[in-house]
Amino acid sequence: MLCPCGLEKEFGECCKAIIDGEIAAKTPEQLMRSRYSAYATKNAQYIYDTYALPSQKQQSHDDIRSWANETSWLRLNVLSTSEFINIERPTVTFEAIYKSEDSFYSMKEKSTFVFENNAWKYLDGSDLEHSLLTPPKRNDNCLCGSHKKFKKCCY
Ligand SMILES: [Zn+2]
Ligand SMILES: [Zn+2]
Repeated sequence: MLCPCGLEKEFGECCKAIIDGEIAAKTPEQLMRSRYSAYATKNAQYIYDTYALPSQKQQSHDDIRSWANETSWLRLNVLSTSEFINIERPTVTFEAIYKSEDSFYSMKEKSTFVFENNAWKYLDGSDLEHSLLTPPKRNDNCLCGSHKKFKKCCY
């Protein structure tokens, strides 16, 4: 299976190796992609574990799990990253498309990361935009970027 994060690599050679702890996320963007892939594969534990400590205290496993279970993640676009400009608090801005209860949404978020105990962690994010998408027509290209018809893909 291709990695959910959208880099055209096998999941096992991309985010899964980070999620499984075989390799470390070298950049905030890699951590962000691995967290997205963890949502896509419903790995609530990894999402919880990659919160920076101050933020982790405000999270509950159950909330993360139910959010992951209610959503199907279709596509990730990384829009920009500040990692070489702002080393203390690097940010990654992305758009993600997901499906929840038969509706499709786009969310844009600017996420902030910190380097904590020798690893990149997710500190918090500010929602830049969150919108309901008009679903494609059945014969149009799917929202996920597969180039398949919508009716044969994420419909
Ligand atoms: Zn990946
Ligand atoms: Zn699709």
